[in-house]
Order: sequence, then structure tokens, then C-alpha cells
Amino acid sequence: MTTTQPLELLAPLAGVLLPLEQVPDPVFSSRLIGDGLCIDPTSQTLCAPLAGVISNIQDSGHAVSVTGDNGIQVLMHIGLDTVNLAGKGFTRLVEEGQRVEAGQPLIEFDADFVALNARSLLTLMLVVSGEPFVLLAPATGLIDVGQALLQVMPGAAANEVVQEEGDAVFSKPLTLPNVNGLHARPAAVFAQAAKGFKASICLHKQTHSANAKSLVAIMALQTVQGDVLQVSAAGSDAEAAIKALVALLAEGCGETVAKPVELVEPVVPVSSTTLLRGVCASPGSAFGQVAQVAEPQWNITESGAGETIERLVLDRGLLQAAEALQALQAKAGNSAQVEIFRAHQELLEDPTLLEQAYALLAQGKSAAFAWNSATVATATLFQGLGNALLAERAADLTDVGQRVLKLILGIADSAWDLPEQAILIAEQLTPSQTASLDACKVLGFVTVGGGATSHVAILARALGLPAICGAPAQVLSLANGSQVLLDADKGELHLDPNPAEVQQLQATRQQQMLRRQREMEQASLSATTRDGHHVDVTANVASLQEVEQSLSMGGEGVGLLRSEFLYLGRNRAPSPEEQAGTYNAIARALGPERNLVVRTLDVGGDKPLAYVPMDSETNPFLGLRGIRLCLERPELLREQFRAILASAGLARLHIMLPMVSRLSELRLARKMLEEEVQALGLTQMPKLGIMIEVPSAALMADLFAPEVDFFSIGTNDLTQYTLAMDRDHPRLAGQADSFHPAVLRLIASTVKAAHAHGKWVGVCGALASEVLAVPMLIGLGVDELSVSVPLIPTIKATVRELDWADCRLIAHQVLGLEEATQVREALRLYHAATVETSLVVEN
Ligand code: PEP
Ligand code: MG
Repeated sequence: MTTTQPLELLAPLAGVLLPLEQVPDPVFSSRLIGDGLCIDPTSQTLCAPLAGVISNIQDSGHAVSVTGDNGIQVLMHIGLDTVNLAGKGFTRLVEEGQRVEAGQPLIEFDADFVALNARSLLTLMLVVSGEPFVLLAPATGLIDVGQALLQVMPGAAANEVVQEEGDAVFSKPLTLPNVNGLHARPAAVFAQAAKGFKASICLHKQTHSANAKSLVAIMALQTVQGDVLQVSAAGSDAEAAIKALVALLAEGCGETVAKPVELVEPVVPVSSTTLLRGVCASPGSAFGQVAQVAEPQWNITESGAGETIERLVLDRGLLQAAEALQALQAKAGNSAQVEIFRAHQELLEDPTLLEQAYALLAQGKSAAFAWNSATVATATLFQGLGNALLAERAADLTDVGQRVLKLILGIADSAWDLPEQAILIAEQLTPSQTASLDACKVLGFVTVGGGATSHVAILARALGLPAICGAPAQVLSLANGSQVLLDADKGELHLDPNPAEVQQLQATRQQQMLRRQREMEQASLSATTRDGHHVDVTANVASLQEVEQSLSMGGEGVGLLRSEFLYLGRNRAPSPEEQAGTYNAIARALGPERNLVVRTLDVGGDKPLAYVPMDSETNPFLGLRGIRLCLERPELLREQFRAILASAGLARLHIMLPMVSRLSELRLARKMLEEEVQALGLTQMPKLGIMIEVPSAALMADLFAPEVDFFSIGTNDLTQYTLAMDRDHPRLAGQADSFHPAVLRLIASTVKAAHAHGKWVGVCGALASEVLAVPMLIGLGVDELSVSVPLIPTIKATVRELDWADCRLIAHQVLGLEEATQVREALRLYHAATVETSLVVEN
């Protein structure tokens, strides 16, 4: 219940009371953050001075705000510059949003550690909501925890601001330079500056927004260095507010930052750092000049000119966008582009999205506002689901959203005016922007956002453009025109490359190009070792186009058709006829002499399929995934079996079950397949095999082998399950390595068990596409390598350079090693001694 009774604030700590003027930090002593008092503590548990809700507690645990029922907001900040301790020495006892009683312990801290490692232990208690107060204790002297210290008058905030309303204007995104994010001090500077404007102003971080005039709200955004922020403002001085606040953010809000972030035309050369690291999104290397690219500012009017008119505007925008996407598909140079634009077209028709937008039109909003709100809200939802794949689809949605928005707002699709030999630098590129890059001018790109499995990365690989994602925000400050060397293979951007480095890179590139040229020329030769051992090199595919491409690159069949990708991004299930038509076309392309291994739907884990609704899982990779899900929905599996069986005789048909962990799963699926074969009147069963990607299946391969026709080892999942490391975990990416001897031992024992029963074994996980792994895998006896399409010629050429007898020796040797790094090193030495020598000899 709201009350206007005076409120007593209790001392949060025992200690010595000091006036704020004595705090050796001008932000606090000048009362910029708020008025209050300072305690030099003698106790180590910070307690709530009032009952209320924890409106913010910093991740680092050094500051907390409590908001009382009457709106009084009190910030407590333990020590000075304690944000630098990054949480060390602090234990948070409460969570944001939690209700607390006056006197309740909030944070414990190690006073010795803080005193030794931070500037000061002096702790502030500030009334940041601005109400006047009187001190109930002598201005200096000893106080006890829980003692009444201040009497505050609610509802009398002196610095309350009247906010203006109107259409919001948004700034361009900018990257936060502050090392510790917007913690109390810079947040206070920012909020203070925002209060100088009449406009209502918001600070946005991804999907979260804060009132820019509220210190606590800004702190609650929990920003960190590199966060991409936007400022929006509505009101008479909105433009001026945005200009001033964006400049303030770029300068560090009173904190010294490495260098100001330039927003429009970055011209500041980078300091002493000469190497910036990101993650390889697309391999290769390039030497060129920096070309910064950024999206212009949008001006979106909220209120519309009436529902009928605005609906016409929106529908016209959607139609024009659909036409543009159709045209892009028609002139797309590769299947990845086609698939992505097709998925974007689907999004334009998404009923939920349209419903949301139309509902806003009915409320009198403009077409631009309604469409933008609907796409942003859905993208936000995708991002918040904690699923890496969906988060990446949010980028696609944003892309489609912007395409339509530009059409509605009449903003021309500004072709970037790029210099020759450009290395693009951007906060984030959309798939559309990536697909329309002019390969004559652009040599590669670097983005701050994005991931190695994003559509942008897939497109870059398809275009053969080297690219790095996840680069530090510092790249956005590089001067246009400065020369850089992009070594995407290593995820490195060299800012001041010396001529020797450039020369070395160009020589390596030249060599790679020559090698690639020769591999392509010889792509149709068989993959047979020097001593006559043949290995099948087949393709991992997800579309008919990829099958066709694989054949032109010497692929000997399809070792893995990821059937769940055929209909990714669709909201409606394909009809049985459509499914059968797809398999039919693929089987025909391959012909009766080549293997077609169709993996049944591997949905779940990191692969959600929009038209197969699933409950959310706490551990999606350990939940209803692959065959488990299909056996729960037998009609889905039976329908797929029937669609695949319609291609019997057109290719050498193989059906493969994913994620099998128990014999009973295989038996149940086999029974269903036999029933469908019989029902269709077929005389012959297709080959039936399983993926070996769960350790239980690998360990019991001797029991599975008699009941299957083949195995294909999915090293991607086998690695994550063997090492208990999420395959998408950004921090474990370096350790979740398929070269780990534990994974290799499982491959070895699987092959042994299969061969004992006369069955063949393939590897279709990413390990098979690694040149370094080839001698080891064929040495372990693997019969088929199913690899990513562009790598088929390379893997075949590698096999031709090897001796099988040597491969068996090296395979035996690596099984005895302890770590993946040792395995890689041993294989690197072997590679240098064999493959590279053979190249020299042949050249
Ligand atoms: C694997 O797990 O190695 C595999 C090939 O399957 P996917 O990557 O599709 O899960
Ligand atoms: Mg798998």
C-alpha cells in the first residue's frame, strides 16, 4: 500500500558515519548520483535499510538498490571502484525482483579483501529517487547496524522529471566502451545528462529498455563492455537529446575509455593493439582496407493515418519484400542463398507475426510502427529462449523486418559505396546484406556480433569470403582506409601488418589456391590410398542443390541427408506427396549406383522444427531428440518412412536413425519400417542403419551390429556426449574436440564391432571433413567419409596422398595419447612428413 508517512531508513552496516563531502570521489561527493551518507564499515553484511523490492543488484555484487512501496529508491554501493573486483569478495544473498524486509541481509563481503584490493571500503547509502530527508544521528561518529539513520518524506522527490510524449526517434546502435559497463558512476552521469532534456528517453540493450533518467534502471540493464546500445527519445528536444547522449556514451560517460567510439565516420586510428581476435565464421585470408558500414537511423512515427490506409501500406511493403526475395532467389549463386531467402519469404507470411502487426494497426498505429513492433517482439522472444539456433533465427527475423520497414518508409536500399579491396567492418551484417556483397570489391568481413553457425557465416562460406565474427567492439573504431590483414582461419585481424606478414599470407594463399585448383581438377578420381585401399567419400547434404553440387565435386553418393533441414523455417508440415517428391528428386539425381543415406528427422536439441511442436526442455540435448521424439510420434516417422520408400530403386536407398541409445529403439523403428514396406507392397527392405553418436550405442556396437546394415558415426554429438560438453558452448568450444582420445577409442571399438559382423562404418560428423583427421580415421578402419560438400575434392586428394599401412600405425599411436591437443600435434607432424612432402615431390 502506498503511504506518504515519513519513512525511517536503517543503517545497512555498523561503522563510522561520514558526510558525503568527505568521500574521495567527486561523483559521490557532488551528490550526482543522489544525496545520502557514507559509512566506513566495521561489519561485513550489508542489510536492507527499508522494506521493498530489490530493484537492482549488480552481477558483481558490489551495489544494490531497494525500492520501497512508496517509490523511495535507495542505492547502496560498497567501497569505491569495487566494480573492478568483478565480484571477488562479494556474496549476493538476494536476487533482483525479490521482496526484502528492513534489516534483511543483502550482500556479504570480505572487508579485508575489499580494503586491500579496491580504492576504499567506504560504503554509500544514497536516496537516488531524490526525496528530501533528515539525519537522525550525529553527522559523524559510530553507528550500529539497524539503527534508524534517515527520515525520508515520500512523494516529495525534488528531481522528478516530467516526460514528454510523442513518436520515438532511435539512435544508431553503438558499442559501449566502458570496461565495467554502465555501473553506478557512468550510469549516474548518463542519467543526469538525460534529465537535462524534456523528451522521454530510453536506453536500450538488446531486448531490454531502461528509463534513461533513472540511475537504477540503467544499472539494472547490467551492461558490459561491448554491449550494443541504442538511445531513443520522444518529445520536442528528442533529436538534441539523442545527439548529446550518444556522444556521452561514446566518450565513456565520464570514465576514461580506450578511445571514443566514433559513430558515423570512424577516423580514429587504433591504439597500440595490433591484433584483434574473433571466431572464424568463414575460412580464408585477405589483405585489404577497412570499410566501416553502419545502418542509417530510422524515423518511425507511432500513430497511423487510419487502419485501412495503414493496412494497405503494410500489405504493399510485404508484397514488395516478397518480390524482392523472389528475385534474390532467382539470381542466387548457391543453394545456401536460395534456402535462406526462401526461409525469409516464409517469415513474411508467418500468421502470428501478421496477427500481431494487424492488431496494432487496429489500435491506430502506423504500418511502420506495427510491423517493427511485431518483428522486434518476436525476435526478442526467439532470443530469450536460450536456444542458440533460435537466437540466430532472430537475426533472420530482424533482417526481414528491416527489409519491409525500409520499403514502408521509402528508404532506398543504400548500396554501400565501398572502396576496392574492402574488408568490411560492422556491428552485425544481416543475411541479406551478406548475400548481396559485391565480391569484386569485398575481400572479407569482420563483425562484432554473430556466431560461427549463423546464416551470415553460412553465406560467407558459400561466397568463399573469409570472415570473423565475435570480434571486440574496438574494430568499430578502426579508421576507414587503414590496411588490415584478415586471417580468418585463425580468427585474427592484424591491424598494422608488416610487409613480411602480408607477403607470407599472400604466398600461403597462392599455394592454397593452386592446391584447390588441382584438387578440383582431380575431383573425379577415386579416393584410393597409394597402397590401394579405397575409401568412399560422400556428401553431407541438406537440399537437392547440394546433392547436385556434390556430384560436380566428385562426391560418390550421399552419406548423410539431414532430412530435418529440408523443411527448416517452415511453419506447416510438408504434405506426404511433397516429402516423397523431394526424396525422389534427390534419389534421381544420384542414380541407382550411388548410396543415398536419408537420416530420419533429427529434431530436438539444437534443431527445432517449427511444424513439430515440442515442450521446452531443461536439457534439450538430453531430452526428446531424434529417434526418441519420432518414436513418441510414430505417425511422423511412419509418414517419413513412406515418403522415403517412394524412392526405392532410384538410388541405393539407406535409412538411418539418429540419436539411437538403446537396442529397443532400433527394434521398434525396424518393425515400423518393415510394416510400411509390406503395406506398400515392396519386395525389398531398404538398408537400415543407425548413427553412432551416443556413447551407449558406441559401447554396445557389438550388440547393435548384427541388427543393422551399417553404422555412421556422428562425431559432433558423440563428442558432446562423451566429454559432457555442450556442442554450442562458447567457452568450451576449444575443449569439445572430436580429436579427444576418448572419442577416438569409441570410433575404434565401433569399427571393430561392425567389421566383425561384416557391416560398414562411415563417419558423417565434422571430424570427417578435417584433413588432419583423415589418416587417423582410415587407419582406424572407417570405410566411408561423409563430408561437407565443398571439402569433397580436398578429402579425396588427401586420401590419395596416404599409405594405409602408415595410417594404421598413426591411428594406433594416437589412441594411446592423453589429450586432443597431443593427438592434433601427432597428426600435424605426420601430415607435414607425408602429405606436404608428397606435394613438394609432385610439384
Ligand atoms: C553428428 O552429430 O555428428 C551429426 C552428423 O549429426 P548432427 O550434426 O546433424 O547432429
Ligand atoms: Mg548428431
